[in-house]
Amino acid sequence: MVRRIVITLKPGHTSNMLNFSSLALSQPLLAALEEVGYKTPTPIQTQAIPHLLQGRDLLGIAQTGTGKTAAFSLPILDRLSKNKTPPSPRKVRALILTPTRELAAQILQSFETYGKNLSFSSAVIFGGVSERPQIQAMLKGVDVLVATPGRLLDLMGQNYVQLDKLEIFVLDEADRMLDMGFIHDIKKIIATLPHERQTLLFSATMPATIAGLAQKLLKHPVKVEVTPPASTVERVSQKLYNIDKSNKSRLLRSILEQDNFERVLVFTRTKHGANKVAQDLELASISSAAIHGNKSQGARERALDGFKNGSVRVLVATDIAARGIDVADITHVINYDLPNDPESYVHRIGRTARAGREGVAISFCDVEERQFLKDIERTIREQIPLHPTPQLTAPTSQMLKRTRPQENFSEQKKSDANKRPASSRRFFKRRGTR
Ligand code: AMP
Repeated sequence: MVRRIVITLKPGHTSNMLNFSSLALSQPLLAALEEVGYKTPTPIQTQAIPHLLQGRDLLGIAQTGTGKTAAFSLPILDRLSKNKTPPSPRKVRALILTPTRELAAQILQSFETYGKNLSFSSAVIFGGVSERPQIQAMLKGVDVLVATPGRLLDLMGQNYVQLDKLEIFVLDEADRMLDMGFIHDIKKIIATLPHERQTLLFSATMPATIAGLAQKLLKHPVKVEVTPPASTVERVSQKLYNIDKSNKSRLLRSILEQDNFERVLVFTRTKHGANKVAQDLELASISSAAIHGNKSQGARERALDGFKNGSVRVLVATDIAARGIDVADITHVINYDLPNDPESYVHRIGRTARAGREGVAISFCDVEERQFLKDIERTIREQIPLHPTPQLTAPTSQMLKRTRPQENFSEQKKSDANKRPASSRRFFKRRGTR
């Protein structure tokens, strides 16, 4: 039986580690993170990196967008650079298996970004392009290989890739691999790996096949879960206003006239948007502050302290900046802009239902955000109750009609699903067929 240490993260959870230097990463990696502008680790990074640096196996239940790529690539680079054994011809030291060529290219790019101050060799292998450069890259062997299963098996079959000296194996997006029919290829690849190795498995969901695979693959894994539990959504009272984007600022001010909006977290999609909203509120004498990636650590800390002690009533944040926020008694979350991925919506609204409390989440939806709304509602499997937009006094106010576009989910499901980005299509498929 596998013994597991389970660390379950609720959305928005942060540990005491607030910056990357406390994660014991080497100096060249810290310098690269500084250059790329990452200030604080995301929850999966905080939880996974220390264990991975120690060589532990890991079961990560996380989607793209959580920062999982850095969560595995940083410790891999750290470990490989501390033990500089050059790879032998055709051999690989760390293999990342991922389902699509786009993801493979992105992951390689992440390794190159984070590893820019280190010397290591890397290659990417995927189908649909010539094998030649990939074979060429493998002749000397590589430290890091990112690959999709089909082409990798081909090149292994031709003996251009040998995995018997592998030190670290990452199986990324395992549930998607299953959906895409790669499971047999993966099993064939796994059968060639050495017994002694570090293994990481990432999956957004845990269908029985993946749970079984994890059981076989991982030794005493640390489990890190950053998917919010559905119960968080259930505890939040959600409201929707259809509102033209030029009137969002006025609607926000009108809503904030209510006294019970004591500690309010407002989300915008962009840093510029966050600044603008905070400025508008200040002009209306509503105490507010913005936090996002362009703010200095000091400014962020001051804003957060003010938010916690009540001198700042409204904190305006972007999704990434909000990751580090750990405030237990946020009374309201307002989605000034709807996020374009449903997971972010679930994360955002979870901020107001912390520590078993009830919370309120209000979303503003402009006509251009209707598709985002549909994606969100499918993911959470409920319709967000639409509320009548309050009368806004300004003469230019042009309310959108309050009627929701008529939706017939079962008829539209397929055509809508095809219009959505691939990531949300996957998610819907999984949830919808469960
Ligand atoms: P991933 O889930 O790995 O696809 O990452 C999602 C996005 O978040 C990527 O664009 C990363 O560059 C970015 N990212 C990852 N970690 C951090 C961090 N600690 N701070 C800011 N951005 C990050």
